[in-house]
Amino acid sequence: MSSKTIGKLSLAQLPTPFHKLNRLSELMGGLEIYMKRDDMTGLGLGGNKIRKLEYVLADAINKKASVVLTTGGVQSNHCMLTAMAASKVGLKCVLVLRGQRPPRLTGNQILGNLVSELVFIDTSDQKKVNEAMEAKAQDLKIAGETPYIIPIGASVPLGALGYYDAFNELLVQAQSEKIEPTHIVLAWGSGGTQAGLAAAATELNSNIKILGINVDDKETVQTIKEQTSDIAAKALSLLGIQLKIGPEDINVVQDYVGEGGYGKPSKAGLEAVKTVASHEGIVLDPVYTGKGMAGLLDLIKQGYFAQDSKIVFLHTGGYGAIFAYPDSYVAMGEEK
Ligand SMILES: *Cc1c(COP(=O)(O)O)cnc(C)c1O
Repeated sequence: MSSKTIGKLSLAQLPTPFHKLNRLSELMGGLEIYMKRDDMTGLGLGGNKIRKLEYVLADAINKKASVVLTTGGVQSNHCMLTAMAASKVGLKCVLVLRGQRPPRLTGNQILGNLVSELVFIDTSDQKKVNEAMEAKAQDLKIAGETPYIIPIGASVPLGALGYYDAFNELLVQAQSEKIEPTHIVLAWGSGGTQAGLAAAATELNSNIKILGINVDDKETVQTIKEQTSDIAAKALSLLGIQLKIGPEDINVVQDYVGEGGYGKPSKAGLEAVKTVASHEGIVLDPVYTGKGMAGLLDLIKQGYFAQDSKIVFLHTGGYGAIFAYPDSYVAMGEEK
């Protein structure tokens, strides 16, 4: 197993819960829908980035870093969780956010601001933001710090190992409950999560299909498949396993980004948030999991899944963003 050979911190509360969504399954016509609760990883507001950070921050500490820098959109869950995880292990943190500084901080920004330095770069071009982050790291170095840069989403091979482990964790849970999942469905943002799951599934020659619902309009399906399979293959080679994983091994659908694009709540996404909250008392977020669930529900309606499917929706978190888009929910109420 990976943790024996590669440094890993213990940051998450594991295993995260795994359970059936009874009322949602019934609503959707009887195929079985389960949820793996990675919203409950137990640090910050919880979410998928914690599992990745267990590996990435171990590497930062190993390299004697004094400060970590990372980047994301203005409401990045990844940035907030990096700041919280850095706090837990005693590292300073700088978050370089893509977009304009708002007149008043909201959502994840409020939490990030509690424990890290926020730098807003007023552009929509992530390349420019990455350059600004590199420059900031240089400044910190000159000031005597040892900076460590975590790429967007911690979607590097090392980070993906967190989801290699999560796949194995899920298998143990499913086995002990005598459930054989047929699919894992999740929101795709920067690919590390799906890559880790795909890496483990490939190694085990598993029949479980992993389906990403893309929420990022800036990427084409082909780029997504290439990026994800590349991370997956490299994650396996970190474990000393050489297996071919190509773009054709990655399943992603593109139709649920929504009218406004990445980071903008969509009508279908908010409806999915409402459906799951009103049937299960579980909250999804408007940027990732709401759109991921909108994709799952729509694909079920379209007959994409066989009636005897046992689908696991991976709840990847996103709670910090829920309160950052109050106007979207108002608009939704008015439509009733
Ligand atoms: C980052 C994120 C994702 C996407 O994970 P990737 O590994 O970047 O694809 C999904 N859901 C939430 C809530 C996230 O914060």
